[in-house]
Amino acid sequence: MNVLVINAGSSSLKYQLINMDTQGVMAKGLCERIGIEGSCLKHSPSDKDAVTIEKPMKDHADAISMVIDALVDANHGVISDMKAIDAVGHRVVHGGEYFNKSVIINDDVKKKIDECSALAPLHNPANLIGIEACEKAMPGVPMVAVFDTAFHQTMPAEAYMYALPYEYYEKYKIRKYGFHGTSHYYVANRCAAMMNRPIEDLRIITLHLGNGSSITAVNKGKSVDTSMGFTPLAGVPMGTRSGVIDPAIVTFIMEKEGLSVAEADAMLNKKSGVFGISGVSSDFRDLDAGKQNGDAKCALALDMFKYSVKRYIGYYAAAMGGVDALVFTAGVGENSIAMRERILSNMEFMGITCDSEKNNVRGKEAEISKDGSLVKAFVIPTNEELTIALDTQKLLK
Ligand code: AMP
Repeated sequence: MNVLVINAGSSSLKYQLINMDTQGVMAKGLCERIGIEGSCLKHSPSDKDAVTIEKPMKDHADAISMVIDALVDANHGVISDMKAIDAVGHRVVHGGEYFNKSVIINDDVKKKIDECSALAPLHNPANLIGIEACEKAMPGVPMVAVFDTAFHQTMPAEAYMYALPYEYYEKYKIRKYGFHGTSHYYVANRCAAMMNRPIEDLRIITLHLGNGSSITAVNKGKSVDTSMGFTPLAGVPMGTRSGVIDPAIVTFIMEKEGLSVAEADAMLNKKSGVFGISGVSSDFRDLDAGKQNGDAKCALALDMFKYSVKRYIGYYAAAMGGVDALVFTAGVGENSIAMRERILSNMEFMGITCDSEKNNVRGKEAEISKDGSLVKAFVIPTNEELTIALDTQKLLK
């Protein structure tokens, strides 16, 4: 079985064609600038040279037909016919309270994804356009929606409710949803496999630390709390997002600076985080370089990030009555040796350790805690596309 995994954004579309027998990626790529001048497709077959095809794409339907053309192309294709695509798995950002697992897409599912657009106005409409473009290009091919929020639907009300007037939950569905669910689910399950223990016996804290970061408490295989909230703005400071702050600061700054709602939103989402503090970059590699050159604000941004992640470890250990394993994943979690070491330092009181030699690893699965450590720590590269493909396969069997 071959599954095409689609991640559609407002002007971009990422894809991977996965052979489910080998779980190998046959080809992957990215359509950029859809509907904008200069659109192009970057296509990377696994056993041939990558190509960039520059061609106008007026909408997502154009993008999908270019992806199919690339997949069946005589030179850089990987299948002889589009009939070799057995199913499509779509990443959908927001499933609201409707979806606690992946589902086969039908009209009712599309209607509910559309209803959730109010909760994710930048993402869900684009995801839906991607679904409809695929339905048009591949009639009869089954499609599955895999939601970023679904894994967190097991959180108890005491964790997902905000202490605001209850009517806002009823009227607007204001509550914590959490994101990166596919990633947290995947790495928590890989962690249990690496420990050779059933996930039902484990309390795991998964640390998805990248440009966007979220931390999840996974108790007995279920998400019981997570650091992102109603939107992906909550939690630890991120590349350009503030993370949790005193909510009164928002109205204070709006008043002092005369900011509109849109400007305040942009300030919190695009001008804050480690970028806002350092004034240098949202990329942790640039901050490391800045710190090495004596830039105090780069050092402060890194310290704030480390401290915030540590806080969540304590917070979620308390939530679960202990912790058996920590998992680092995503860009920073998989690659920043220094940040992992700093996060894990001075945590021996909780049974958490870091073995400097074992921690000298990037982008591959490894245990990094000291031998005999009460709490195990791991690096586990995330694989959201494979998780989407596996869910798609499971639902269609
Ligand atoms: P992601 O959002 O998961 O793709 O993560 C992207 C982020 O990972 C980048 O913005 C970098 O800040 C970070 N990153 C990647 N490689 C490294 C590295 N070697 N050291 C520190 N940070 C890294």
